Amino acid sequence: MNELLTKIQHTTRHAKQVGALHSLTTAQEVIVDHGIPFVVRILEQLDRKENYQAKQEKAKVNPFLPYEQDLFVCDLTPHHVCLLNKFNVVDHHILIITREFQPQETWLMEADFTALAHCLQRLDGLAFYNAGAIAGASQPHKHLQLIPFQSNGETFSVPIDQVLSQLNDRMQPQQIPLFPFMHGIISLPQDYDGKILFDCYLALLRFLRFIDGPLNPGWQTQAYNLLVTRRWMLLVQRAQDQYEKIPVNSLGFAGALLVRNQMQLSLLKKLTPLQLLASVAARGDLSQRAIAPFE
Ligand code: AMP
Repeated sequence: MNELLTKIQHTTRHAKQVGALHSLTTAQEVIVDHGIPFVVRILEQLDRKENYQAKQEKAKVNPFLPYEQDLFVCDLTPHHVCLLNKFNVVDHHILIITREFQPQETWLMEADFTALAHCLQRLDGLAFYNAGAIAGASQPHKHLQLIPFQSNGETFSVPIDQVLSQLNDRMQPQQIPLFPFMHGIISLPQDYDGKILFDCYLALLRFLRFIDGPLNPGWQTQAYNLLVTRRWMLLVQRAQDQYEKIPVNSLGFAGALLVRNQMQLSLLKKLTPLQLLASVAARGDLSQRAIAPFE
């Protein structure tokens, strides 16, 4: 067993014992849309997490600086620390946070991908980044996230994998014709590292015309979701954080949606999951795009 997983398991046991970790229980249902078995979790306790976060926001508390010692997993790099996500739906959900404050709405840099690669190489799972409030981020301090595919006998799956079989393995951005939203996806080589992940991120930013040429560190120009597995990286441009009060973050674009109650579940069934994603993402024709202006 690898050291990172051992530390995550140890911290999980400890954090549960002292009451620092809140696992939110969910009922779930599958809605199949165009061959994608979307997993919809019904999270009646979402208010509990939101109330806690609203109180912290009001008191201007940054939960990651200082972070809760009981949730600390390990140091990752000189610039990043690994924590357990305080409110998880799946066990062993980790956060990769910057040691010093950096805004969530700034571009990711190579150092962020070095920390991400470190975790992904040791823990097979779905990594993601909600770049800004419009992309579903609730915390302004830079944090990437990773949910392992296997934890404590539970399996977390990525439903969109069902339609990614034709993904070509050239390391070039492409689009999945079925996805009705502005996105780019790129295959990753088996021996990826932080530099390769960063290069793929840059290729996707250029593909979507977010940047032209090198990336200047600083504020992002667009809100987006970034999803990374050991096999591919997907970037989706966002237009709004929710549709009809159904919030969507990166997990939604993996095919894992969250609704607050049965009413929202019925609405989602009527709307269909792909249309929900289309409603919260940017749309349009890539060939018509000019480079996004810097604000
Ligand atoms: P996001 O909502 O995507 O910005 O991710 C931030 C995550 O931080 C949420 O999923 C919360 O569950 C989690 N969170 C909130 N407060 C804390 C805390 N004190 N320690 C660790 N994780 C937290």
